[in-house]
Amino acid sequence: MTSSGSDSIKTNVIGGVIAGAVLAVGGAVWAFAPAAWKWFTDLLASIWAHLTSAATVPTWWLYILYAISAAAVLTVALRVRAAATSTEPTFTDYTEDRFMGAVWRWRYAHGAPTGTWAFCPRCDTVLVYSYQRDYGDLKTTLHCETCRVDIATEPGDRDDLVGKVHRQIDRKIRTGEWKNYVERAAPAQT
Ligand SMILES: [Zn+2]
Repeated sequence: MTSSGSDSIKTNVIGGVIAGAVLAVGGAVWAFAPAAWKWFTDLLASIWAHLTSAATVPTWWLYILYAISAAAVLTVALRVRAAATSTEPTFTDYTEDRFMGAVWRWRYAHGAPTGTWAFCPRCDTVLVYSYQRDYGDLKTTLHCETCRVDIATEPGDRDDLVGKVHRQIDRKIRTGEWKNYVERAAPAQT
């Protein structure tokens, strides 16, 4: 039990020392604070005095500064105007192209083509599809009811055909080839 008694005395002594140290540091900071504050406000005042003091520079130097400022303002103004009046097409303007002899049209949802389907290149009728079996291999034929002609026959079903077109659209968007079609389809609008 004596050991526990001496432990508590030791704890009290350590606690007293820590409390004393905290008070000493706190007192020092308290004593120092007004001096530090005065130094800080003096520093701000001298910076302000420096910034507002008159400087003597050659007049040609002022003209250079004016010219640089005017050029900067003009550049920013022109950029803003160009951005505001821009008619640059984006890839979402690319909603039509020709694949496998048919005209394909689509729209975009979450950046991907959707609602993709084929139209007759001659009369613009929506094409109908039918399946044929060719020695067990499924083939899809696109047919125009108005012109009474088959426009294309491709291996696979309807989804395979649309998937093939989507891969071409994806390729042309990545390579930038889509711009050729958009510019050809919609002549420059100013
Ligand atoms: Zn047709």
